[in-house]
Amino acid sequence: MSSYKIETKCIQSGYEPGNGEPRILPIYQSTTFRYTSSEQMGRLFDLEESGYFYTRLQNPTNDAVAAKICDLEGGVAAMLTSSGQAANFYAIMNIAQEGDHIVCASALYGGTYNLFAHTIRKMGVKATFVDPDCTPEELDAAFCENTKAVFGETIANPALVVFDFDKFASAAHKHGVPLIVDNTFATPVNCRPFEWGADIVTHSTTKYMDGHAACVGGAIVDSGNFDWAAHADKFPGLTTPDETYHGIVYTEKFGKGAYITKATAQLMRDLGSIQSPQNAFLLNIGLETLHLRVPRHCGNAIKAARYLQNHEKVAWVRCPSLPGDKYYDLAQKYMPDGTCGVITFGLKGGRDAAVEMMDRLKLIAIVTHVADARSCVLHPASHTHRQMNDQELIEAGVQPDLIRFSVGIENAEDIIADLEQALS
Ligand SMILES: *Cc1c(COP(=O)(O)O)cnc(C)c1O
Repeated sequence: MSSYKIETKCIQSGYEPGNGEPRILPIYQSTTFRYTSSEQMGRLFDLEESGYFYTRLQNPTNDAVAAKICDLEGGVAAMLTSSGQAANFYAIMNIAQEGDHIVCASALYGGTYNLFAHTIRKMGVKATFVDPDCTPEELDAAFCENTKAVFGETIANPALVVFDFDKFASAAHKHGVPLIVDNTFATPVNCRPFEWGADIVTHSTTKYMDGHAACVGGAIVDSGNFDWAAHADKFPGLTTPDETYHGIVYTEKFGKGAYITKATAQLMRDLGSIQSPQNAFLLNIGLETLHLRVPRHCGNAIKAARYLQNHEKVAWVRCPSLPGDKYYDLAQKYMPDGTCGVITFGLKGGRDAAVEMMDRLKLIAIVTHVADARSCVLHPASHTHRQMNDQELIEAGVQPDLIRFSVGIENAEDIIADLEQALS
């Protein structure tokens, strides 16, 4: 499929039925798979032969959807996970262990920040958070002997910081470690991080990929570009024998598939954060229209942002696709066709006015979600970050008056009319 354009890949990649087989991807709603020889089953367990035996490890529906996402990103191997959180957790823990360290851009989704700042720290992996606008020298200084990866988000949720791929990729590669990028907000329709030097891409498929707020899910994609064997001392898990599989060496046996095979064979086997085949089926239907929905989300977001910019009660608006935004130049460089449908804004009346305005909205709903077909808002200071006082909010990069507005694909005039009545 890789020679087709992105629109065709959204529809066709990952599943090609044979003669007389179902036209659309079936749901293989089965925990297990039958074999006629016990010896063959044994070879599957030893990774000597590839095949399905238990859905915690692999399932045909999930594999077809992972293959589609892999093709959309231009990677060589991919896997689905039960959530975006699981994808980011696995992406790091597949190459880092107790005593290791990672470097992250500090503008991150709140759940990812908690995961990296607290949860993996308890497992012995420390993270250093760097200002995404740091100089190359400051970034360089964040690396240690035991650094194993660099991590960032293409467009940070909710800070809307656009990731400087050139700066972060050259630092990562200079230090012999991969760049891992969470591409949830941009989606491969607007940005393909592998084209800008990223080595691994992760997704919360819960957002635009599913696109309908129907199922939580995640994905990890490997570009196949990072040479683990060239940095064998840093990545022993990939380059030395795995005793749980009779001493196979992932890089030797699986080549460019080493990273995803290890994440499946070890992490998924032991931690078990699989996506259900039912959810993968729904995700696949969402992916078929990704290339139609993303441009509409972006177009509506620009219209809503322009409306808000001109409103007397609005103090500020952030939309990286609009000239004047702090990240406009980076957005033009890496995502000239559009960024995402999420914008943020603040009202002159501050935090209280934000809460009052949101309560008056009729079409646009207050929900803890972003990036689905329906327009929605969230006030982080009252919701996701409500334990923090104003000072702590500002330190976390969330202004107390910030409203996160996920612009849907309804008619833009209806969306703007709802803002209008709520603001008046
Ligand atoms: C939502 C989100 C996640 C977490 O994904 P879940 O599917 O909710 O676990 C990770 N990264 C980004 C950028 C997100 O927006």
